[in-house]
Amino acid sequence: MEVRLMRKPLNFEEVDKHCWRKPITNVTIQKVIVMTNKEWNVFVSDFFKPQDFLPGVVEVINEDKYISIIVDSQGYDYARYVGFEVDTPKLTSCCNAYSTYIDDMLCCKKCYNTVPLGEGDGGGAATMIIE
Ligand SMILES: [Zn+2]
Repeated sequence: MEVRLMRKPLNFEEVDKHCWRKPITNVTIQKVIVMTNKEWNVFVSDFFKPQDFLPGVVEVINEDKYISIIVDSQGYDYARYVGFEVDTPKLTSCCNAYSTYIDDMLCCKKCYNTVPLGEGDGGGAATMIIE
């Protein structure tokens, strides 16, 4: 999986802000952890906190918001490298969900309202990477 990882970020905000500048690297995911939004918020607020599911190369999924981050702990028990899959789809602005085509209209998969092309990635427009 192609990812951009950031070394020793404090929290999600830092990764979200700076990660896109990092070079693309290739990692092999060893396990997938699914979290509720509540668990996710605790986890991403402090990446230096030791985690039961580390060490490892882990994809951590927020099942409520349909977002995920990649963690490569490099043998440590905390999230030493954190980042995103390169082709992480852009989510819809209404619900933070994916989009899909319904009768030729691009729609949010959650509320079924139409969304602009590129939103939710159902339209296939690569709008995520700005370099
Ligand atoms: Zn929606």
